[in-house]
Amino acid sequence: MAKRDFYEVLGVDKNANEEELKKAYRKLALKYHPDKNPGDKSAEEKFREATEAYEILKDPKKRSQFDQFGTAAFESPSGGGYGPFGGFSQGFDLSDALRAFMNDFGGDSVFSDLFGMGGGRRSRRGGGGTRGNDLQVHIPLTLAEINGGVTKTIKVKRKDRCPECKGSGSKSGRKATCTKCNGRGRVQRVANSFFGQVIQESVCPVCRGEGSTVSDPCGQCEGSGRVQTETTVSAEIPAGVSEGNYLTVEGKGDVGPNGGPEGDLIVVIKETPDSLFERHGIDLVCNVDITFAEAALGVSKTIDTLDGKVSLKIPGGTQSEKIFRLRGKGLPELHGGQHGDLLAHVRVKTPERLSKEQRELFEKLAELDNKPEGIFDRAKGFFG
Ligand SMILES: [Zn+2]
Ligand SMILES: [Zn+2]
Repeated sequence: MAKRDFYEVLGVDKNANEEELKKAYRKLALKYHPDKNPGDKSAEEKFREATEAYEILKDPKKRSQFDQFGTAAFESPSGGGYGPFGGFSQGFDLSDALRAFMNDFGGDSVFSDLFGMGGGRRSRRGGGGTRGNDLQVHIPLTLAEINGGVTKTIKVKRKDRCPECKGSGSKSGRKATCTKCNGRGRVQRVANSFFGQVIQESVCPVCRGEGSTVSDPCGQCEGSGRVQTETTVSAEIPAGVSEGNYLTVEGKGDVGPNGGPEGDLIVVIKETPDSLFERHGIDLVCNVDITFAEAALGVSKTIDTLDGKVSLKIPGGTQSEKIFRLRGKGLPELHGGQHGDLLAHVRVKTPERLSKEQRELFEKLAELDNKPEGIFDRAKGFFG
């Protein structure tokens, strides 16, 4: 059978980088994974196809062969044996695909990933069993905190190991081997695919991968091995973060059922609006109001920055809406040496109420403004 273009299968262009390939594959694999589409042959084939495409394109050597020779590089001459370049010609079947997927993404835990594109999540610490849920908290930060970086103490409601049964879920601490999977935690079934019969494995539905069941459930956790608790977690937030950035505190999510490993705590940044500064990336904008006289004559203004007060010299003849750039007085770049600027936006304020004296002076000014130019000024204009 003619194989399809691997780039087309993943829906990426020919120049896609490693990260783009991985992202595209992960999306397809999660959508068509047999565990999510039991019995669906077309999903199965799509999953297999996407995995084959990814396994080839992620390997620079195989990718360049494919770029040069197309799918012919991976086809066998007579339906058996190896193609000219070895590799996948024997037929990359569903069980190969499932194995490759587990290697790339670490198995079942990917389905509980909150943040779709985390990619290559580390294999979990400690024991077997189902991994607990990731938890998500939003924390508000002021611009000053974003400017300097900050350590936040966060209260989290999470499922923790039951202290009574130490997470086993059993009153006596004894567990019975699961009869459905004979303690393996996984069950096999034979599926008929386009490539013949394949053995498909999935998590045991009875013990949820645990391999054992509880016959005398613990009273405190009702056999789940987990209890709801509130803990405080400390999160170190680097300078320069912005709204929607998140960081992962490993192992501070829910613990898994029946003593399974912990999920993570995902801390999502929220930015508190500031009364003085408006944020534009790493630059900040503030308003500086001045009077007519200050605009005409020039003035030195003391203005606030996130690092304290500075003096801004506004020259005579400054128009309203002029912007002065104070270099390096903005926010730091996240994980970078750069610093943004503070943009001081000058606004000339028209007085709304005038004292008697001010009125007289403005009238005098108006008179001067309307006076025709003298002979001397005209002559200067003519020669200059
Ligand atoms: Zn318990
Ligand atoms: Zn079982």
